[in-house]
Amino acid sequence: MTGIDDLPVRDELRGKSPYGAPQLDVPVRLNTNENPYPLPEPLVERIAERVREAARDLNRYPDRDAVELRTQLAKYLTDTSGHEVGLANVWAANGSNEVIQQLLQTFGGPGRTAIGFEPSYSMHGLISRGTGTGWISGPRRDDFTIDVEAATKAITEHRPDVVFITTPNNPTGNAVPRETVLALYEAAQAAKPSMVVVDEAYIEFSHGDSLLPLIEGRPNLVVSRTMSKAFGAAGLRLGYLAAHPAVVDAVQLVRLPYHLSAVTQATALAALEHTDTLLKYVEQLKSERDRLVAELRATGYEVVESDANFVQFGRFEDSHTTWQKILDRGVLVRDNGIPGWLRVSAGTPEENDAFLDAVRELKKEQS
Ligand code: PMP
Repeated sequence: MTGIDDLPVRDELRGKSPYGAPQLDVPVRLNTNENPYPLPEPLVERIAERVREAARDLNRYPDRDAVELRTQLAKYLTDTSGHEVGLANVWAANGSNEVIQQLLQTFGGPGRTAIGFEPSYSMHGLISRGTGTGWISGPRRDDFTIDVEAATKAITEHRPDVVFITTPNNPTGNAVPRETVLALYEAAQAAKPSMVVVDEAYIEFSHGDSLLPLIEGRPNLVVSRTMSKAFGAAGLRLGYLAAHPAVVDAVQLVRLPYHLSAVTQATALAALEHTDTLLKYVEQLKSERDRLVAELRATGYEVVESDANFVQFGRFEDSHTTWQKILDRGVLVRDNGIPGWLRVSAGTPEENDAFLDAVRELKKEQS
């Protein structure tokens, strides 16, 4: 039978696996950091209205520059960060994965390298590979914080073209202090200079502030964001970035023409009209996240401090076996392959109760 490796695929893709969080049909799914709340009905109605309007023009290509959408995203960023962001600072694509891909196509590529401090979001490495960018796995401490000295050393040694800093970090949940990001930005500029991508996919769930204001006066700093988490719209596929206008101009060189469909633009605009309501769900999820942290600790688990909508907990002699035992109780969590640890996304209070019941039972079994 013909397999992938019988095809003339690129050498660097041979023997590799695609991104693949299991999509299993279980009662409680807490494995992909989705927002558990369906969009509110008035927003669903508004999406239908906006999409109906857009449908009348579907014989035409969409607005290639997504001007209305980028303007509204800029307004959202300005309102929530207190830092004035304009249309020229913002670019949008199909999920922040596509934003990251466009950044790597622009600033990475064959003969260039990117670094991330692992464990972190695995797609940074996978998209690097997909764009022919060499991947460097930078260090993290055992407690999952970034050691500035060790990270600076890695940057100075490898002189990467792109530096990824995920804050709050996925899968560990902890935020990266502002001073660390600034120190690594300086190190990256001294070494090359290179682009520093601050991946803020989960920033709305953080106890702290966005690092967005840091783009001022730092043209090589990019903040990437998504509507998949805080806006509860993972199915929409809408990610965006904020940076110096020159960065937005640069990604135009690689973006596909009309990459954001008129339906996507209409849907995202409708969601942005309902920002206030959607951010109330974020508050609810933050308090559920804090409850998960407290309850897991009270049950005797170790937990990494979380600024995201998920929690990394442990430790287990064999995390995969524990993952299976939790699944046997109807709850799907995530095994990211980090020995000793598992990750659970904050769900609805009922879903979190089901998860907590399952892990309390496991503790009892062990004692
Ligand atoms: N960055 C991080 C850190 C993530 O965890 C994710 C999603 N899991 C993304 C980016 C991509 O999100 P999306 O493509 O849905 O915007």
